Amino acid sequence: MNVDGLLALRGQPPKVGAGDAEAVALTLYGLTARATALDGERDRNFRLDTSDGGPFVLKFIDHEADDGIVAGQSAALTHIAEQNPQLGVPRVIRTRAAAELGVVELGVRGSRHDPQTCRVRLVTYLPGRLIQDRSLALPNLKLLSSVGSQIARLDDALAGFFHPALAQPIAWDVRRAQSLLPVLAQVQSPAVRRLLGNALDPIEQLVVQLRGLRSQAIHGDCHGRNLIVNEEGDACAGIIDLGDMIHAPLALEIAVTMGEFLVDGLASLDALPELLAGYTSVQSLGHADINVLYDLIAARIAIGVLIQTWRERNGGADSSGGAGAGTGADAGAGSLEELSARALDELASEGKRSLTRQLLDAAGIVAAASGAGADGGVRRVGAPPAGVPRAGASSADLLRRRRTALGTNAELSYDRPLHLVRGDGVWVYTADGERLLDVYNNVPHVGHAHPVVVAAIAQQAKCIASNTRYLDERIIEYVERLTATLPPDLDTCLFVNSGSEANDIAWRIAKSHTGNDGALVMTHAYHGITDAVTALSPSICARVPGHVEQLAAPVVASGCASAATDRTPGGASHPPSAVGHTLGAASHTPGAAAFSSTGVGTVAADAAAAEADVTAAMGRLAARGFRPAALMIDSALTSTGIYDPSPSWVAPIVAAVRRAGALVIGDEVQFGLGRSGSDFWGFARRGYHPDIVTLGKPVGNGYPLGVVITRRSVLEKFQRDTGFFSTFGGNPVAGAAGLAVLEVLEQEQLVDNARATGDYFIKKLSELATKYDSIRDIRGCGLMIGVEVSDRALTKRLVNGLRDRGVLIGSEGPKVNVLKLRPPMPFRPEHVDIVISALTAALSVAHP
Ligand code: PMP
Repeated sequence: MNVDGLLALRGQPPKVGAGDAEAVALTLYGLTARATALDGERDRNFRLDTSDGGPFVLKFIDHEADDGIVAGQSAALTHIAEQNPQLGVPRVIRTRAAAELGVVELGVRGSRHDPQTCRVRLVTYLPGRLIQDRSLALPNLKLLSSVGSQIARLDDALAGFFHPALAQPIAWDVRRAQSLLPVLAQVQSPAVRRLLGNALDPIEQLVVQLRGLRSQAIHGDCHGRNLIVNEEGDACAGIIDLGDMIHAPLALEIAVTMGEFLVDGLASLDALPELLAGYTSVQSLGHADINVLYDLIAARIAIGVLIQTWRERNGGADSSGGAGAGTGADAGAGSLEELSARALDELASEGKRSLTRQLLDAAGIVAAASGAGADGGVRRVGAPPAGVPRAGASSADLLRRRRTALGTNAELSYDRPLHLVRGDGVWVYTADGERLLDVYNNVPHVGHAHPVVVAAIAQQAKCIASNTRYLDERIIEYVERLTATLPPDLDTCLFVNSGSEANDIAWRIAKSHTGNDGALVMTHAYHGITDAVTALSPSICARVPGHVEQLAAPVVASGCASAATDRTPGGASHPPSAVGHTLGAASHTPGAAAFSSTGVGTVAADAAAAEADVTAAMGRLAARGFRPAALMIDSALTSTGIYDPSPSWVAPIVAAVRRAGALVIGDEVQFGLGRSGSDFWGFARRGYHPDIVTLGKPVGNGYPLGVVITRRSVLEKFQRDTGFFSTFGGNPVAGAAGLAVLEVLEQEQLVDNARATGDYFIKKLSELATKYDSIRDIRGCGLMIGVEVSDRALTKRLVNGLRDRGVLIGSEGPKVNVLKLRPPMPFRPEHVDIVISALTAALSVAHP
């Protein structure tokens, strides 16, 4: 087809005025109305306000529009009303003679011409404003998501619709772009010509690809002048103008919106995935659909310029290129050609590969790491089920529903709660489109939504999620790889689903192994939520029971703020272990780490205090009739307040525990997998050799996984005695997650990164401490850092102050006066700088 065969190029809206509209309203519809002109590319539209009912929109239909096509639009509106009456789409109002269309004769006043006939249609007016309305704020991510889901709902309603008019050869249909190619030569600017040429280069092949995609009736023109936003400006309330409806690949629908929004400045390139995410939350798209989006977006933008150029050359209506010309380009913001060229340039800089990866991600289809499966290296992951909006509900509404659903006492972080919808590396994103730096969460150990881990989980879930009563390679391989990083005697694993469960089992093992039932834990320790483990967690246990004794926190590491700058970053007492941070080579010899503190006397005193303390604690247990079964210790001393004492501190404690015949349980839920930066295992940094190691939180990077590791003889006896089995524990999906985490840790050298970033972090914090007296101490190492401040109230102000500045941290310690800085392991020095400047700002407000 040559260019002249295309529809919608010319677009000459009938020349009628408000007076004509008011007259037609009365004669055909019996409405006494006041008419106001509205925009329209090919139809002439008027808003009708009446005193009873309405408002309405009266459309004088383009003379050139074929009768069949006009009938098709009426049929589509009727079909949508029938399929989804709630959808924000205009409803047809019939004439007094019950016809969907009226025909009127328009006399051209003052002229000698015969009256023209014109078809009219009356539809309901949708309240709200056009998204394109420049007086509105630019759409945030929530609105973009809502736009996507609203369009998807329209497509859902149109799924079964058919009409011959859907074959209309409309110029805006990118599949017709080849007919427009001759216009390219008429584009003046060589640079723009080149951009358009590049965008349309793949068109031939693209059209072939499109023929293989799922197709149906689509709106085909969902741009900012056809989309209505609600009064609050946070949701898409309606879609108008079905004049460009065609039968086409479903993917084209959202591609049109993405292209138009990009040109019109309604969405940045970064925000396009949110439109798609909203769409696919209702209507799923496949890998092949997403794969063509980049080319479709580029082609749509390019044909917009070609149509504009053609109109300028051929006197098509409103060829000015400004607003109202059937293009969204705002006259003040640059010509359509300029805006389109900028958008194409941006697209090209991002590149097809990168944008497609983001779009796949947004659609819940994750590109796997290289060398992935036979399905083109892409696996589908949990796209939300149809009809479930991803970020639809407002925070206030969610909060209200949460209170009812989860109870008013369910813990919620921050004074201004966060509604997180996405994470990526060290960043998290809220439903409102806010991006925050995550300096708190350790579950996403190798980073939020790490693609390798996500793909591994998805791939395995796609195959089988069975349990350890069946043979499976994954979990065995995981044990082999995990135990290779541990001392040789810690060679056998038992699987559960959380750190709490792991500690619960470790405690049962210790009791049955020793025949004792007393316990030693650190002051204000936290080990989990089961009944037995809560008893071992003084931080949450209102009355610590008689079988539990608490040991005092070390004091050696506490320097004062003025001394903080003298500290060797990473903890004065611990030069990084030469081998302990590599997989398979943890340093685990008790007391092996060299010690070169500036305060040897203090360390010696600390060790002596620890010895006296543990002896007294065991004496108190004995006095109550308990012999110790175990010392359970979180090597990071997290809830105790985050400390990094020398191995000299723990040595007398462990020795006393062993003399009493008790086991040592190393709770590595916090410190395992290299968080210290110096060693792969926290106990190696502390300088003791546990009998049982427990793991949780970070090991599955978000997939529930808990592990108990001990000597084979100990575990086999426990299995024999109890017939232990956990339904989910160690299922193949958990195994795949665990393996992927180990792989990423090694490949991305995240333990080394934790050391380097941690050292830098402590250095910068120490500098800050010289300026603020309220910083009392900086403790920890690697990416487990505690900043003790003067009091609990200041801690709270700082935690919330940082949240308001886009940085997430937590609080810790018996007095709740320690800032907890514990980010995902890919945290880099540039992220530290962000924290330091936010903390500086928050501190300066706290100390005006
Ligand atoms: N041990 C320690 C040291 C922990 O910090 C936690 C959780 N914060 C647990 C055990 C319990 O882990 P979970 O919440 O996965 O049961």
